[in-house]
Parts: sequence; C-alpha cells; structure tokens
Amino acid sequence: MKSKTEIIKKLIYESKHLVVLEGNGLTQENNYPSFLDDDWSYRIEEDYGYSPEELLSSTYFSTRKDRFFKFYQEEIICEREKPNAAYQALAELERQGILKAVITRQIYGLCREAGCQNVYEFRGNIHRNFCSKCRRSFTMEYMRENKIPTCPDCNIPIHPDIRMFGEMMENSIVSKAIEQVATADVLIALGIDMNSSFLNKLYPYYKGDKLVLIKSENHFMDYQANYTAYGKISELLPKMIK
Ligand SMILES: [Zn+2]
Repeated sequence: MKSKTEIIKKLIYESKHLVVLEGNGLTQENNYPSFLDDDWSYRIEEDYGYSPEELLSSTYFSTRKDRFFKFYQEEIICEREKPNAAYQALAELERQGILKAVITRQIYGLCREAGCQNVYEFRGNIHRNFCSKCRRSFTMEYMRENKIPTCPDCNIPIHPDIRMFGEMMENSIVSKAIEQVATADVLIALGIDMNSSFLNKLYPYYKGDKLVLIKSENHFMDYQANYTAYGKISELLPKMIK
C-alpha cells in the first residue's frame, strides 16, 4: 500500500496546473506570528494596549505613527528565521516547472525569499517599501533603523507595501489568483483549515477534485478535502518532491 506522502507526490507530479495556498499554519511553523493566533494576540494586547488588527490598521498608521512603527518594528519586521524546508520545496517545485502559482495572504514574503517567483500576495509583502509620493524604494534596514521611516525627499512616512486592516486588497491580484485556482487541477492548502476565510474565498472557483490539505492538526471539517496529510509541513512537503 502506498503511503499518503507517496500518493500526494504522485498527484503533484501528474498535475498539469498545481497551485498552492500558503496558510498561517505554515508561517507559524516557521516561527512568524499569525493574526489568528490567540496567544500572540493576547500578548500584543497586554504589551501595547491594542489588538494586532488595531495596531496594523490604516487608522493607527495615520493617527499614531510613532506607536504604529514601534509595534511594526518590534513585532512584524524584526529579524526572524529564514524560510524553512517547506518553502525551499515550493521553490524547487516551481523551478521544476510543476508549481504554477502560490497564493497567500501572509505578509512576510517567505515564498519569494525562498525563490518562488509566481506569488500572489493578497496583503502585500513587508520587504517592499516605497514612498507613496515619489516611489523611491527603501531597504528593510532603513525601515528597521529609523524611528519613523520617512522619505527624505518628500518628508512623509513610508507606508510599507502591505494591505493594512481597513485597507482594500488589490483587486487585480485577487482576480489573477482566482484565475489560477480556476485553472488548477491540483490545489494544495498548506497549514489551512477548511473553514478558513482565505480558503473559502478561493475554493468556490476550484473545478478539480484534488484538494489536498497538509497541516499539523486534524480539524472536524477536513473530510471535505480530497486528500489530507498531518504533521510538520516542513517535514512532509520535502518528501513529496523529487
Ligand atoms: Zn518620496
């Protein structure tokens, strides 16, 4: 009998259009904070007096720049781990021509950092920082080292290229991602539960019958997926590639 890993590996290599959804379970496994993590939210609220959603909001950015950047620098863009083996496996699958697209609403840019190029980032990427007026670009070091990172030419604070809470997602990215899902024959969701709003936004467009969930824990709605594998994604996914 074939193991689950082998079955999913076969699906991956027989796919014509493989699309992967990066979920918070994967970024958390790589030790990046998740806005869905209650423990983290609780700790942030204790330390800063507001929830992570309030702190990373357009309102807070425009009214309390000093506090916004304190939270942003201490909790969001501080130095963290490199993309783990799961991300490396995704990059390898893309190089092999198997993986056609990654869709994410994570802001940490881990897929791109690992080497994936075709990434649809619903909420942007903390590694891109432009002045909204003159479009000059700024490094992560600049964002980390200046109390309120400001464009020296325009004298306005730099808005990181992320969609803050209260800001619209870019429609063109969402519709391109939907096209990818509609074309996919195999759809793999990494670290995502069936009831996640992210999956529920995209899943209705999927026409295939090979939805694969790879994640750490069992959830009662997982039966709705066609294939499931449980464990550390950074251990499972590398075993599913050649
Ligand atoms: Zn400027």
